[in-house]
Amino acid sequence: MQFISTRGQAPPASFSDALLAGLAPDGGLYLPQSWPQFTPAEIAAFKGARYQDVAFQILSRFTQGSFSDAELRDAVEAAYAKFDASEIAPLVEIGEGRYLLELFHGPTLAFKDVALQVLGQLFSRALARRGGRATIVAATSGDTGSAAIAALGGLPNIDVFVMHPRGRISDVQRLQMTTCAHANVHNIALEGSFDDAQGIVKALFADAPFASTISMTAVNSINFARIAAQCVYYFTATAQLGQPASFVVPTGNFGDIFAGEAAMRMGLGVARLVIATNANDILARALNDGVYASGTNHATLSPSMDIQVASNFERALFEASGRDADWTAPAMSDFARTRKLELPASVLAELRARYSAFASSDEQTRAAIGAVYKQTGRIIDPHTAVGVAAAMKMAPLRSQKPSAPVVILSTAHPAKFPQAVKEAIGTAPPEPARLAGLKNLPERMEILANDPALIKRFIFSRLAP
Ligand SMILES: *Cc1c(COP(=O)(O)O)cnc(C)c1O
Repeated sequence: MQFISTRGQAPPASFSDALLAGLAPDGGLYLPQSWPQFTPAEIAAFKGARYQDVAFQILSRFTQGSFSDAELRDAVEAAYAKFDASEIAPLVEIGEGRYLLELFHGPTLAFKDVALQVLGQLFSRALARRGGRATIVAATSGDTGSAAIAALGGLPNIDVFVMHPRGRISDVQRLQMTTCAHANVHNIALEGSFDDAQGIVKALFADAPFASTISMTAVNSINFARIAAQCVYYFTATAQLGQPASFVVPTGNFGDIFAGEAAMRMGLGVARLVIATNANDILARALNDGVYASGTNHATLSPSMDIQVASNFERALFEASGRDADWTAPAMSDFARTRKLELPASVLAELRARYSAFASSDEQTRAAIGAVYKQTGRIIDPHTAVGVAAAMKMAPLRSQKPSAPVVILSTAHPAKFPQAVKEAIGTAPPEPARLAGLKNLPERMEILANDPALIKRFIFSRLAP
């Protein structure tokens, strides 16, 4: 399988090349040259299968030519060995025809583990084969960083630099990153927002001599391997329900919900893909008003979604334009300059055929945590709650059975965000074993200004032998 860039100016790449590169050399994002196809019978057969086996079958269509079946099987088994639910992504009913798809059973208690654990396994195998070192520079809104550290900390031949917006992530999220003792892990607390951190990653990539000197690569959701691993749970959930569902996805960088579009393009029946955002509602405005325009970044109760530039939206725009790189490339560079993009009618119609979008305030987020707690006794985290709030805008939780099942992606364990939960229901969630003792460990991080030149010097100083 070969991969092409959304901007049309990069040579086709193998899966391993796309994996190790992250971003395509023309600044675009990689997508498969054509989407692999699954028949309804193949999808129905996923019902009751082990998650790891479904993941193997789906991923193998992308990794062909880069990894042998045995390598991929090993990688997938190793990736999910540390999950604390044997189903990996359990589906839990919270009301008639309404479900939570729990994606937080990995080592760092957020859905990022589902893909990053696979990516880490594939990365170390691909790198061992290619030889040399790689430097990962990641921007995190809170969960990617800890999941990347859990997946890559201690691996030979890789250095991991993670930038988080200082003071804008939860204490648990910070501790999960800064208490890691592995020498190849370097934390940066950036004086800025997540968008600033993501902007620095893009600036460093754009500096080709720097990027090649350090063999820089990305594990943010711009890396296609993450999308490939995230498609899997759309398939397992649908197979389990036995009919097409609407998926409500708490959305920031558009990676998780784009994996839903990928699953549809691979043959999966999906009723709707529902974008759920917090007050950072750039995507809801794009869908509803037809203008993709980034505003100021608001700090909310769901910090992992405090994003005004959704990198993966480029993939959806490329697909919605009929894979027209000649439109996508200038559109994305105009957007980078003006922070605004008017969507052509045909592109908007394509997007609306698949996606709906709802934005919710912090108040509605707290109300959703309260409503689920009252109705089911279950404590949900504020990101999941943004999804529930969106589902409640489609129809009240207690109303009669929806025509298609509604599956809300539950993206984090509530214990990662005890403060928000406490504000909503008056009690903090119980602390899971994985988090016990974090507070007593020493923290390591460097506080740095929002300045690419400074970040470059810091990276060089840490990489110096
Ligand atoms: C990253 C994250 C999201 C948003 O996912 P995207 O792929 O960036 O849209 C939602 N919830 C949680 C808990 C996250 O960590």
